[in-house]
Amino acid sequence: MTRTLSLLTPSGRLTLGSYLGALLPMSRRQEDAFYGVSDLHAMTTEHDPRLLRSYADETATLFLAVGLDRATLFRQSHVPAHAQLAYLLECVATTGELNRMIQFKEKGRGVDSTRVSLFTYPALMAADILLYRPEQVPVGADQRQHVELTRDLALRFNRRYGPVFTVPEVVVPEGGTARVMDLLHPDRKMSKSAEAAGSVYLLDPPDVVRRKVSRAVTDSDTGPGAVRRSEAKPGVTNLLDVLEACGGSAEGLDTYGALKRAVTDAVVATLEPIQKRYADLAADPVHVTQVFADGAARCREVTAPVLAAASAAIGL
Ligand code: AMP
Repeated sequence: MTRTLSLLTPSGRLTLGSYLGALLPMSRRQEDAFYGVSDLHAMTTEHDPRLLRSYADETATLFLAVGLDRATLFRQSHVPAHAQLAYLLECVATTGELNRMIQFKEKGRGVDSTRVSLFTYPALMAADILLYRPEQVPVGADQRQHVELTRDLALRFNRRYGPVFTVPEVVVPEGGTARVMDLLHPDRKMSKSAEAAGSVYLLDPPDVVRRKVSRAVTDSDTGPGAVRRSEAKPGVTNLLDVLEACGGSAEGLDTYGALKRAVTDAVVATLEPIQKRYADLAADPVHVTQVFADGAARCREVTAPVLAAASAAIGL
């Protein structure tokens, strides 16, 4: 079993998409796993310090609430080696290659007020990965380019300064990545970043889930067999995907009303135990803080030799 690493950015409240696409697979793979709350990444666009802290606390507590109890859990900012190695990698990366990053092009290139950290973000992400020497990095399509860059930087560093980094392989996670779409705009991913009305948050109470699902966009098809997956029916397809991912079955459902009731029941049943554990953990924040402090201590131990080797190789 090879080492695995995954970070979630606390730029908002975690959603059903974060759970089905990231936390659930993480909970099934906890041996030699490092799972982090990437608070530094949440500052590449305008942010409110109080909100950042509250999103980071909520995310950390949810890591435990979904059952991540064997992996090493940490906050990125508690492991200074991340920012330190990022600087060394900025001394290897070029403006040309960072300028070509699709995410930077889409989110900020050419805008005067764009934060420098949005531009250099891929160097920090490369540091996040290379510090832990994972052999494989499972990523969704939107992060593929950044992991390719991580490989390029590692190879270039090794060639110029000596063999410090393990060059990770990019892998598509087993069974692909579940993509949960926004309930009101099924053409885009359910997002935690905005206060999106089409997002179901992991801590939404049952009546809120019911209201959101009942407003989900479907289509005007009312004939027999309307409840089916099809490229032409993105809203219905998404509801069916969510239903099955939450352990429900579409058998015998022939109206959108029945489908939405089944989706609500399945989602509420999935969220209920998580919310219950969350409430217990929120009542004992010292425990959560301790788990993350222990995790960060272990991360500092694991990453120190890599940072030391990189520093020595580059001439510090
Ligand atoms: P992000 O929310 O962009 O920080 O992504 C963190 C992880 O959650 C990544 O592995 C994403 O693929 C996953 N994720 C976030 N939103 C969704 C979604 N709507 N559907 C599936 N996976 C998601």
